[in-house]
Amino acid sequence: MMNIGVLALQGAVREHVKALEAPDVNVIAVKKVEQLTDLDGLVLPGGESTTMRRLIDKYDFFEPIKQFIAEKKPMFGTCAGAILMADELEGYAEPHLAVINMKVERNAFGRQRESFEADLSVKGIGADVRGVFIRAPIIQKVGKEVDVLATLDGEIVAARQGPYLACSFHPELTDDRRMHQYFVDMVRDSLKK
Ligand code: GLN
Repeated sequence: MMNIGVLALQGAVREHVKALEAPDVNVIAVKKVEQLTDLDGLVLPGGESTTMRRLIDKYDFFEPIKQFIAEKKPMFGTCAGAILMADELEGYAEPHLAVINMKVERNAFGRQRESFEADLSVKGIGADVRGVFIRAPIIQKVGKEVDVLATLDGEIVAARQGPYLACSFHPELTDDRRMHQYFVDMVRDSLKK
């Protein structure tokens, strides 16, 4: 049995919990720092990255999450969660958790495309993954150690660096569980090591 948490301070928590549910996965909506201790993997949901960061600081999650990262436990950030994971943010002096070597621009698809859907080809998953984009960020560039998993109109929208996975879109808002299964497989692999 794997324990996978969804950071439940703000954002699309319930949808991720539902998408992760499986016979061998115990899903935990994480509201208290102590709940991080027993986790094998953590999802940072979409929502609003500055608000989420404020709540991370307010409830003293910052150092415990950094510790979780230092232990190389798998982490999956969607949309705002991906923004939190970037080590560089366009227009900002400081990143948040700085987990993945990538530069991210917030709200990068512009106003006229505030929210839209597109079919994506995601490496390791399939050529028909429905991406739901809501005020989505773009991954402007990634480091050599980062694997680009998906692009849209030439822009990077999903990337992985070892145990860390990030995407600009919201896989939890569709019935397609493949992105979540991919993450669950990452967690399973990390436990074998
Ligand atoms: N634009 C939001 C942010 O900057 C992210 C949007 C989302 O998670 N749907 O945090």
